[in-house]
Amino acid sequence: MKFRFLGTAAAEGMPAVFCRCEACEKARALKGKNIRSRAQAIVNGELLLDFSSDTYWHAVQNGLYLDEVKYIYFTHSHMDHCSCVDLQLRGKPFAHGMKEPVVTLYGNEAVKAQFDIVCEGEGMFPSARSGIVFQAIKAFETVKSGDYEVTALPARHAPQENAYVYVISRRGKTVFYCLDTGWLLDETFAYLQEKKYRFDMIALDCTSVDNPSADTAGHMNLQQNARVVEKLRAFGCVDERTKIFVTHFSHNGNPLHERVEALCEPYGFAVAYDGLEVEL
Ligand SMILES: [Zn+2]
Ligand SMILES: [Zn+2]
Ligand SMILES: [Zn+2]
Repeated sequence: MKFRFLGTAAAEGMPAVFCRCEACEKARALKGKNIRSRAQAIVNGELLLDFSSDTYWHAVQNGLYLDEVKYIYFTHSHMDHCSCVDLQLRGKPFAHGMKEPVVTLYGNEAVKAQFDIVCEGEGMFPSARSGIVFQAIKAFETVKSGDYEVTALPARHAPQENAYVYVISRRGKTVFYCLDTGWLLDETFAYLQEKKYRFDMIALDCTSVDNPSADTAGHMNLQQNARVVEKLRAFGCVDERTKIFVTHFSHNGNPLHERVEALCEPYGFAVAYDGLEVEL
């Protein structure tokens, strides 16, 4: 399985859209891994996790063909994860010679509402609409997409909707995409323990980096990430072969790449950056 991080910032990006704070100014000067776009990832070039506001940029930067994407799993409807408006360009006269005639979207009711707004707008041509299927997904539901098995688990995030984290399995490899979320809910921990997953890779919400973060918050910091990993290790979901990444950094956490790498060293976590591909 090839897993690629496309965007590794929180909603505001790094540097943040309108910000002149010290961290953002440093990112502008240093560039490279310090430039972080809005959260998105792709598996094997065909399964997208979220359709963020930077999807077009991600495709150009990474040489992706978005017409080859068959499945899009949405975590929740926040704008940095769900920006459906570009989907209206998936058809003639905006796109020719597409490889995959149909893309299937999976998401909660709030994502569906966002998608419906785009469909009802005058920009959605029948040529685009006919190639998009929306399938509602519920917490604790496992969906088969080709040879992928994807399970939605409830996140501690966006309480006005049902936000999800995802377990994605294919041909013996399993990834836990654990964002956006705060400290995991008891029922999510219980499910992971009961299912006895063994994760080849985990991506953790580290929005707050080393800033304080309560267990009731909708995001995590490094210490909380470490506690999540400790619990998963006790369940047998994590072992010495599990590749653990932190991602979804806010500029308020000063997520300059080298700084976060130094903070992660004692934990043995790797720091995700835009464009990082992980071979599993
Ligand atoms: Zn987010
Ligand atoms: Zn800033
Ligand atoms: Zn969010």
